[in-house]
Amino acid sequence: MILDGKAVSEKRLEILKEQIEESRLYPRLATVIVGTDPASQMYVRMKHRACERVGIGSIGIELPEDATTERVLETINRLNNDPDIDGILVQLPLPAQVDTTRVIEAVAPEKDVDGFHPCNLGRLLAGSPVFAPCTPQGIMTILKEYAIPTTGQRAVVVGRSIDVGRPMAALLLNADATVTICHSKTRNLEAEMRSADILISAVGRAKFVKPDMVKEGATVIDVGINHDEQGKLCGDVDFEAVRDRAGAITPVPGGVGPMTIATLMENTFKAAKLRTCDSTVRL
Ligand code: NAP
Repeated sequence: MILDGKAVSEKRLEILKEQIEESRLYPRLATVIVGTDPASQMYVRMKHRACERVGIGSIGIELPEDATTERVLETINRLNNDPDIDGILVQLPLPAQVDTTRVIEAVAPEKDVDGFHPCNLGRLLAGSPVFAPCTPQGIMTILKEYAIPTTGQRAVVVGRSIDVGRPMAALLLNADATVTICHSKTRNLEAEMRSADILISAVGRAKFVKPDMVKEGATVIDVGINHDEQGKLCGDVDFEAVRDRAGAITPVPGGVGPMTIATLMENTFKAAKLRTCDSTVRL
């Protein structure tokens, strides 16, 4: 079974559009990009397009390549205090001279629609997330949409980054999976991977996952965005070789990527809803 993230994201965006319209909340997202990295610019453009599609207002702030940490912090601070802004997204990576940790920690937790603030990561780890990082949350949505069970399943996450691997493991744990996190220092990596009912690869290496690393019938989720020898976009998984062995598999493109953006839209709407309520979920 091919897990069609594109189709799931289309469906979710349509539902979200209706919910936003009915809510009359007029959510607004601010994106902050530092420098002119073409890939980052493309991702930000895609996010603005998605906003337009679902009825989220958006503003884009572009800072020069040589912007200092202080300059970025000033921008974040202004957005934190702007009552018309519900969500703030800082496009990563930031140039080397900018202190990424300080910037992430400067975003008000209730506007942190990327879910990277320690407050949101802590809530996720404690089992009561408010904003979970978009890529892993989008993967959970795919699993749910295709009714792939997680309870009691053995999940192996390869990669331990803050944006994917670690929050992915926490979300799977919250969904009652038995979770192993692997990384570049893991011993017997292939055996760990072969033990997975749900295998998530977030490594960033083209065709890293081969059929002999996959248990027959496993669900394989490919987070990677890489280019093969011909320069063609591909994931971490050797898709053609693995697809017959996997029970279910996400393609690249059209798998996890579209879900990341759909989840960002959902998180922004959630931020707008939280703004209008004084419940205990407010951070
Ligand atoms: P990252 O920060 O570079 O993390 C990569 C992880 O892979 C690290 O934990 C690293 O281990 C591990 N690793 C590297 N080589 C390995 C090996 N040979 N064996 C086992 N583990 C290995 O990358 P990331 O931000 O998590 O992103 C991973 C991939 O997902 C990239 O291709 C990125 O472009 C893609 N991505 C896609 C989306 C999407 O929306 N589809 C979103 C985010 C990221 P160590 O920690 O030991 O170094």
